[in-house]
Amino acid sequence: MPIRDKNEVLKREDIQQIQLERLQATLNRVYRNVSFYQNLFNKAGIDPEKIDSLSELSKIPFTTKDSLLQNQPYGMFALPLREVVRLQSSSGTTREPIVVGYTQNDIEHWTELVARVLVAVGVTREDVVQISFDYGLFTGALGFHYGAERVGATVIPCSRLEAEKQISIMKNYRTTVLICSPSFALHVVDIISKRGISPAEFTLRIALLGSEPWSEAVRKEIEDVLHITALDNYGLSEIIGPGVSVECQEKNGLHIFEDHFIPEIIDPETGQNLSDGETGELVLTTITKEAFPMIRYRTGDLTGLDHSRCPCGRTMVRMSRVFERTDDVVIFQGIKVIPSRIEQILAEIESTKPHYRLKVDRTRSLEELEVWVEISDNIFFDEVKKLNALREKIEKKLEEAFGFFIRVKLVEPMSIQKWRNSGT
Ligand SMILES: [Zn+2]
Repeated sequence: MPIRDKNEVLKREDIQQIQLERLQATLNRVYRNVSFYQNLFNKAGIDPEKIDSLSELSKIPFTTKDSLLQNQPYGMFALPLREVVRLQSSSGTTREPIVVGYTQNDIEHWTELVARVLVAVGVTREDVVQISFDYGLFTGALGFHYGAERVGATVIPCSRLEAEKQISIMKNYRTTVLICSPSFALHVVDIISKRGISPAEFTLRIALLGSEPWSEAVRKEIEDVLHITALDNYGLSEIIGPGVSVECQEKNGLHIFEDHFIPEIIDPETGQNLSDGETGELVLTTITKEAFPMIRYRTGDLTGLDHSRCPCGRTMVRMSRVFERTDDVVIFQGIKVIPSRIEQILAEIESTKPHYRLKVDRTRSLEELEVWVEISDNIFFDEVKKLNALREKIEKKLEEAFGFFIRVKLVEPMSIQKWRNSGT
């Protein structure tokens, strides 16, 4: 299988050497040019000149979404706007959108990184690539558009045309690669199944999906109905957009492009670094970005790292697929379900603890929302009547608050904490 860039197969010590050099340059630059980082480093007693190993990165405090919000619109930029050739923004699905900027070099790197993503999933210049992300401030569409052109593929910028039209384009223009969100792919699957359209009428062979979590069951369904391979990719606007990591055709995790980003996994509670294989929050440091560099940015995404050898030949570390976020804000039927609101409601109800887990069942579609709620010690788990009454009470309160039914499942005290610690 082709690999786009020689950096993707570097020996570990060579990757680390590149990372250290680029990290040092980035730290010096943000210290000089971004007052947020200057203050942060000064407060923590960090002299960027003295960071001489990768392990010292963990001494630097984190950058959070709140810091970005407080410094909107341009406070985090490391260059004046005249050097910036493009503005985009984060999707704002969980919080207010963040404005991000790119220099000409940033756009060039971004394009190359997305080209790596596309080559990793098997895209070549023979392919016809249909991009069904919104062409707007959100980084998905334009990121893939530039990358696909760079690979030499034929690009169809469908943007958000309705699914019916996209399906006829897919058929008539002989699309071979579909790039979209998993929910859009499921929508396509639904329409095709309902109409009894045979996959033989299409030339589609790959779906490259991202921008929201999707389960293995969803993958299986998309692959089975459309007779294609569906692969995952990961990125976020605050870091660059798509092009941070990609699932190669081995389907055993997503290779992170470590010559541009340094990944760390931390315990979201304590902030301590975790080892390979442990699940925690992904923290990313950009080491080539010019306009909008990020040092130890807390992504909120839960994953783990694996440095073992991948049969595809790439030596870049793999992250496990992201199924959950630390804040787990869910957009359900167009309505934002904010965990703190659930917490607030639970806190008002006797016999419950504000320990809960929000679960979206994506096994079929995005239609099932369930909240697991821990009961307090003063109610026994065998008091069925009491439990049922309590469950109904919570369901009613949640329905009043959010305007739609959310299934509640009561679980024993401490079980959610245990679940969080086991990281499963
Ligand atoms: Zn691989």
